[in-house]
Amino acid sequence: MTTVFLPVLQDRFQRVHKYLRISVTDRCNFRCLYCMPADFNGFLPRSQVLTFEEIARIVRVAAGLGISKLKITGGEPLVRREVPALIRSLHSIPGVEEITMTTNGVLLGRYAQELKDAGLDRVTISLDTLKPERFDRIARGTGSRQDVLAGIAAARAVGLDPVKINVVSMRGVNDDEVLDFARLTVEEGWHVRFIELMPFPEEQNQDCHGGGLDGAYLPEAEIRTAIEASYGSLEPAEVPGNGPARYFRVPGSAGSIGFISAVSEEHFCARCNRLRLTAEGKLRPCLLQDDEVDLRAPLRSGISDTQLAQLFQDTVEGKRESHRLGLGVTPQLRHMSQIGG
Ligand code: SAM
Ligand code: SF4
Repeated sequence: MTTVFLPVLQDRFQRVHKYLRISVTDRCNFRCLYCMPADFNGFLPRSQVLTFEEIARIVRVAAGLGISKLKITGGEPLVRREVPALIRSLHSIPGVEEITMTTNGVLLGRYAQELKDAGLDRVTISLDTLKPERFDRIARGTGSRQDVLAGIAAARAVGLDPVKINVVSMRGVNDDEVLDFARLTVEEGWHVRFIELMPFPEEQNQDCHGGGLDGAYLPEAEIRTAIEASYGSLEPAEVPGNGPARYFRVPGSAGSIGFISAVSEEHFCARCNRLRLTAEGKLRPCLLQDDEVDLRAPLRSGISDTQLAQLFQDTVEGKRESHRLGLGVTPQLRHMSQIGG
């Protein structure tokens, strides 16, 4: 008997999943305070990382189930060689409508044109501060702010827009720059998204105490109040995107202000349309919980496309209604750099 799949990944809570975030590597050329421990060296051996062919096969099957939007992430996606070739191959898969990337931007000056030519639609670039010394503190001295700024300019120049800027807002670290970023949305048309700091494994938390992230969580409401005190009420804005951000703008501005508030937003999980694939092939239904389903071992032992599709269906079927941060359940299995945000 042949099993027939409905071409849709709908869970028990009527959430339809159309968006897959693909981590192409767990390695990174930065070591951001909130993302991985300073001395982390538990990177995957190459043999355990999905090949581009394996990723393309997974995407072909997922596209047959209604996944149409892809986000390429890492670690830092651009440290993996030949990523433009992967994008080109994913771009040719029927049903894939849009491919975007999240990057620290440091290598974008080199790759922006190639990525655009390969079929990448847009980029999001992480930049938590405009201040040079602070940039060094957050990236623990591993990054080049000038290269990130050059990456932003290159992305815009080749038309990977709207370029969005991710800012993880942290009390006592960069909260005094909220208005500077808001001003850039007005004066330069930037699209800035403030991300609430998310919890990470205890092991990293220990490490981050030294980095000063104790008590750094800053809720959206405080950021918004600060912006509205200077600019008046924000108005809703339409910005292309598939993720969890809600967008607003200072009236009359060409840019936008987005909020990604996994911790404080009551209906954050109810709007979830995302699945995640880690670099070693774990399918993860929720960023903030440790549930995962392995795809790599079945793939390497000859699973059929129908069986692979069933693994997707089972994963979505088993997805929980919401994260449990409010109950004190935080992800312990992986650092953010090992999932891709
Ligand atoms: N390396 C790329 C980059 O930095 O954009 C892609 C991977 S990074 C894990 C994806 C996003 O997750 C970045 O915007 C980063 O700021 C965000 N992120 C990492 N750790 C986080 C945390 N603990 N809380 C909130 N956002 C976090
Ligand atoms: Fe690397 Fe991005 Fe994590 Fe920073 S946020 S350490 S750039 S993966």
